[in-house]
Amino acid sequence: MIVFKHAQSLDRYLIKCKNRGQKIGFVPTMGALHQGHISLIKASKETTDLTVCSIFVNPTQFNDPTDFQNYPSTLSADMDILLAVECEVLFMPSVKEMYPNGLSDPLKIDFGFIAQTLEGEHRPGHFEGMAQIVEKLLRIVKPDFLFMGQKDYQQQLIVGQLIKKRKFDTRLMVCPTLRESDGLAMSSRNVRLDKKSRKLAVKISETLKFIKTASAKPSNTLKQLEQEAINRLQAIKGIDPEYFSIRNATTLKPVRKRTEKMVALTAVWIGGVRLIDNLLLN
Ligand code: AMP
Repeated sequence: MIVFKHAQSLDRYLIKCKNRGQKIGFVPTMGALHQGHISLIKASKETTDLTVCSIFVNPTQFNDPTDFQNYPSTLSADMDILLAVECEVLFMPSVKEMYPNGLSDPLKIDFGFIAQTLEGEHRPGHFEGMAQIVEKLLRIVKPDFLFMGQKDYQQQLIVGQLIKKRKFDTRLMVCPTLRESDGLAMSSRNVRLDKKSRKLAVKISETLKFIKTASAKPSNTLKQLEQEAINRLQAIKGIDPEYFSIRNATTLKPVRKRTEKMVALTAVWIGGVRLIDNLLLN
């Protein structure tokens, strides 16, 4: 695996690879790698000739400074994992490398409703920061394929819009959410859960599954289902749901007809850790 810290040297290397006809796959991450990330690397390796993984904890997408400070960093374990799955290239830039003109970089796109609702409403500035860094990374790596997880449902929709708006010649591949054996969606933040919180966290996916089953009955209105989910989560001491919402799976607008493709999305606080998850309903 070749490790690059500077965009220019990575660019020079990738130009050579592309000139040889190699197709490039890209997996952007914030490190603290787990099997969910690895599934994206494996998908990239199956689809492309050369996989670039980036590790960069992007300061501009953290609306909560404590979350940024507490974000786990496990660099040497990450390197071992990437070597084991035979990832060809790791890009590990510094903040200065990605934001040479400082963090108040004006490069921002207006995505409208899709970035203002749900996570956008509860984490102001998060998607602007995320889109900003993904755009910078795409301009450096210029991948043929970009691999992202369904786990961050709203994020992958916005990145799809970014690719369209900026006319990037990159195909977005969305990979399924990897879960622990009890159903908890894998996340770098899970390591911050203490024993008790980790046990409680299973309730998130359990509630999503319950609502999916219940949504098959047309007599249950979506409003009732959302309320039922909130009630179930709130009833458990130690769990504080921030939102539970059923939306159109493409636009994230409220569902008008049950024949639309629907997704249930939720954000929940457990033991001081904010976790998100989602499930397609039909
Ligand atoms: P992160 O390091 O959390 O920014 O995530 C990097 C990429 O990994 C994003 O595209 C995430 O959606 C994806 N990802 C995170 N958790 C999972 C998971 N449990 N299953 C599949 N992909 C995931």
